Amino acid sequence: TPVDLHEVLSEAADRSRLPAESKNIEIRLGGSLPRRVHGDGDQLMMAFRNLIDNAVRYSPENTRVGIGLSSRDGIAQVTITDQGIGIAQEDQERIFERFYRVDTARSRQTGGTGLGLSIVKHVISNHGGEVSLWSQQGRGSTFTVRLPELDESMDSVDLPSSSRTEPEGQPSDQN
Ligand code: ATP
Ligand code: MG
Repeated sequence: TPVDLHEVLSEAADRSRLPAESKNIEIRLGGSLPRRVHGDGDQLMMAFRNLIDNAVRYSPENTRVGIGLSSRDGIAQVTITDQGIGIAQEDQERIFERFYRVDTARSRQTGGTGLGLSIVKHVISNHGGEVSLWSQQGRGSTFTVRLPELDESMDSVDLPSSSRTEPEGQPSDQN
């Protein structure tokens, strides 16, 4: 099913605005063009909500969370940037593991199970994409998600009706 990432991000951002407001954190969504990918809108929503929720949760008051959406060579790129506590180099690989949380004493204060990012990674790789992370302790973090876009040009290709017919014995749901 086609999913418009801009729509998903705008709804995900809206849902985080109330909790963000209590810390006076502004959530900004850049870009206004639709970017269509193939997949499950609910799962993608859950993944992006997790990332935005983390950005707000691990940031101090009076900061900003920026959400960017762009496209290059048929790949949609989403960035979620915060000005929060950041993640030390030695933790950066491990935070995508299930139940892994940085500094349990600190994490206990902020709640959570440590599952969020493992779910994000799972959902994004199920959609043929990847998640990467840039972070510096005390400065903030940027999570980047790349997802293959739907090839819009395919919509307008008008095949002769004979070549639309599935050959017998071939699975019709390849890829
Ligand atoms: P849950 O998402 O299940 O409620 P959680 O937020 O602790 O709990 P993850 O989302 O998987 O779990 O994140 C794992 C750990 O990575 C967090 O506990 C936190 O230490 C660190 N982390 C994640 N996102 C950020 C961020 N934007 N800034 C700083 N640290 C982060
Ligand atoms: Mg989380």
